[in-house]
Amino acid sequence: MAAEKTVAQGGGTAALTDEGFADRVRDAIAQDELSLAYQPQADVATGRLTGFEALARWRLGDGTMIPPDVFVPMAETGEAIHVLGEWALRTACAAAAGWMNAGLTDAPVAVNLSPRQLDDPAFARTVLRILAETGLPAANLKLELTETALYDHNAQARETLMQLRGAGVRLVLDDFGTGYSSLALLRRVPVESLKIDKQFTQAMVEDRDAAAIVQAIVALAHALGLSVVAEGVETPEQRLFLQAYRCDRLQGYWLARPLPAGEVPDFIQRNAVP
Ligand code: C2E
Ligand code: CA
Ligand code: CA
Ligand code: CA
Repeated sequence: MAAEKTVAQGGGTAALTDEGFADRVRDAIAQDELSLAYQPQADVATGRLTGFEALARWRLGDGTMIPPDVFVPMAETGEAIHVLGEWALRTACAAAAGWMNAGLTDAPVAVNLSPRQLDDPAFARTVLRILAETGLPAANLKLELTETALYDHNAQARETLMQLRGAGVRLVLDDFGTGYSSLALLRRVPVESLKIDKQFTQAMVEDRDAAAIVQAIVALAHALGLSVVAEGVETPEQRLFLQAYRCDRLQGYWLARPLPAGEVPDFIQRNAVP
């Protein structure tokens, strides 16, 4: 049953079963091969810093980086996603609680979830326990979900999301517009914001259709009382378009690359509004 996987291990490669991969992820955590990078988000109109998205990074002992687009899908076929997911939540919540304790600013952290994590009936409890243990207020945690998380799933996923929302955790629908966007979904899931995928943000200046899609997503979000964030913003022109379209927040290389945890306090201080 267990899928065979190959992952670079200390320079060599080893075939791993699902069970083996979860253990490999545990080792990577213990050996500090896994880390989170934090990419800032800002208010489009004012430039005010509004929070960070946590993005997983895996650096092998020999310095090789494995991209999350590779290791997250590998983890998603087995138990490893629960190990990786819980580690990411705990690490991000601890970091964000640290930013608050340093009195720096009110900067919520957004953590990406895999659809499979919502299958776990204990997931909401796990999140609330991590918030309690790290001392991070629920309102300072955002969870980024993809549309797939919602439809292949079911009553359990929706129940979990209702519990989290009820506890004050904020939900974001990621990569909006790239899946089989079911507008009906927006009425059933207690999300508070939509995230416009970078394929639209990046095409918008050159391509009228992409521009129309971005405008329509902003209008839809606002009509439903949701806020909207655009990812992948790389140029000043893209920022100006988003401002004209009344998009609320942006994220992308134009503002900053994902930062190592150690650089976040400085970034917050440099961007603090006096
Ligand atoms: P995503 O959630 O859509 O994240 C946005 C991706 O765009 C990130 O890639 C980010 O580094 C990249 N990005 C940000 N600004 C720009 C920009 O201006 N231009 C361009 N070209 N790219 C930009 P990254 O870090 O490689 O992550 C890839 C994907 O891996 C994420 O896509 C997310 O789906 C997944 N991922 C990352 N960390 C985690 C995690 O902790 N848990 C789960 N389940 N998935 C994760
Ligand atoms: Ca995301
Ligand atoms: Ca995306
Ligand atoms: Ca994505």
